[in-house]
Amino acid sequence: MRGSTMPDLGARNEMVILQAIRLRPEGISQSEVVRRSGLSRQAVSQIVRRLIDRGLVQTHGTRVNGRGKPSTVLGIVPGSQLTAGVHLDPAQLTVVIVDLFAQVIAKRALEPPGEDPADDVVRIADALEDMLADLREAGMSAADGGDVAGALAGIGIAAPAGLDAEAGILVDPPWLPGWRHEPIVSEIETATGLPAVLDKDTNAALTAEKWAGSYPQEETVLYIYVGAGVGSAVAGDGTVHRGSTTQAGEIGHLPTGLDGPMCQCGRRACLGLYTDASGILQAAREQGVIADDPDALVADALSEVVACARAGDAAAAELVAGHGRALGEALRTLIGIHDPHRIIIGGPYWGLLEEASLPALRERALRAGGGDHGVLITSSTLGDDVGAIGAASLFLERELSPAGR
Ligand SMILES: [Zn+2]
Repeated sequence: MRGSTMPDLGARNEMVILQAIRLRPEGISQSEVVRRSGLSRQAVSQIVRRLIDRGLVQTHGTRVNGRGKPSTVLGIVPGSQLTAGVHLDPAQLTVVIVDLFAQVIAKRALEPPGEDPADDVVRIADALEDMLADLREAGMSAADGGDVAGALAGIGIAAPAGLDAEAGILVDPPWLPGWRHEPIVSEIETATGLPAVLDKDTNAALTAEKWAGSYPQEETVLYIYVGAGVGSAVAGDGTVHRGSTTQAGEIGHLPTGLDGPMCQCGRRACLGLYTDASGILQAAREQGVIADDPDALVADALSEVVACARAGDAAAAELVAGHGRALGEALRTLIGIHDPHRIIIGGPYWGLLEEASLPALRERALRAGGGDHGVLITSSTLGDDVGAIGAASLFLERELSPAGR
């Protein structure tokens, strides 16, 4: 991401500089920030002073580069601003607190969301209080020396599709039936006294990768989220593309072109028929791969299917490979549409499926004629918490970028 000298883009420049400093945890010289940002020495110096005044950045002495003057070395103050992330997933309810590096410093994995949102909001608020108490006990305080709660700037919420991010409402989340028309943002704000933002889990996950520095900001990146359903998100030049109603990347009904069954949407062999966790498990039960236990947690049942595949059960192996084949075909189409530098695959169930799904996925995705542009296909390194970390990163981004001001 490069800076701009237009005066009304001052806030954007601040973000550019903060990101340049964030992405070098070992410290970065001010002259290097000038070089990376493309901004004038004077502008950088002014903005850096502002960031130091706000307690977000500190100096670490000076560094001599070649024959030039010694340059001030800058670093982030990681605990100067904390953000909470809430991931409402049908299979898990995760709450984290992250620092300015988007590193998790506290986490609670709660029982999955239930039928009564009011109850869950209380559980979320209690978990936050509990985590703050832990941090207090560990000796953390706000940048001004006050209580650590003062460093907590706000809360990001990541939820499955079927939401209105602007209005802060879950409209019709297919796997969270009790949460229809739930004004989640205002309820969390009321319960915690903190500002909150809402976005789709897929967008949150891609934002987490951005804030974790998983890819160069100027790249076009396609993120595939493997959860209860499958979703995608795309970012270019550091910005996630959300579409007109935050529904971009709903790829569950993307036809795969495979010789498969009709979908209820009226098309044949839609991606979700092969990739939805509920569909894989239903087929596994019908084929006798696993026992029919309606109370089993999805993650447990899915790992049982994967274990059977690994142990040589042909039906289980076919189900998991089918996930890879279908996703590979979908990627072949998506690569043609988005022309990404890189594809990152993650989400709560990807860790389980990766080993068995990835070979077929790669083979299909990169097939000639599908537009193999030398695209990199990698797995997320952020693990199961990617949604919660992403949710917190969403708030960080809103807070630190001009769009949020
Ligand atoms: Zn369909």
